[in-house]
Amino acid sequence: MKEEKCIFCKLANGEIPSATIYENEDFRVILDLNPATKGHALILPKEHFANIFEMPEEWEMKAFALAKKMGAKMMEVLKCDGFNVIQNNGAAAGQTVFHFHIHLIPRYENDGAGITWVQKTLSEEDKKEILEGFRA
Ligand code: 5GP
Ligand code: ZN
Repeated sequence: MKEEKCIFCKLANGEIPSATIYENEDFRVILDLNPATKGHALILPKEHFANIFEMPEEWEMKAFALAKKMGAKMMEVLKCDGFNVIQNNGAAAGQTVFHFHIHLIPRYENDGAGITWVQKTLSEEDKKEILEGFRA
């Protein structure tokens, strides 16, 4: 299923041109328009799924297998020192385009990309509540 007005549907299916670094029957991998680092790319499925929860398991497996394959290729081509695989679900998690995508972010020593968070301490209260929730 394609969504009429979805920009990533159009990019994935070549209706809008993009800087494509890889393509197969199910996915297109394109350079991000506003990269965090040099080579930042996006894996886009050619079918429309708003997020990971809408995506069938067979697609998930193919998507993350491709992330690993692209990561290895990007390490080789871009000579980066590390690699982030990021996948946002929901506005609260930073998702801005509601067509599933995986960010492939090559990392270079001291690149200043700032992909991090403020570390807090796991409280005893939170730990107890969370563990009880999962055991229920
Ligand atoms: P999100 O925040 O939803 O996880 O990521 C959306 C990503 O898509 C952002 O990194 C943004 O720069 C990228 N992006 C948004 N629109 C376009 C576009 O038209 N072309 C490309 N190549 N990237 C886009
Ligand atoms: Zn779409």
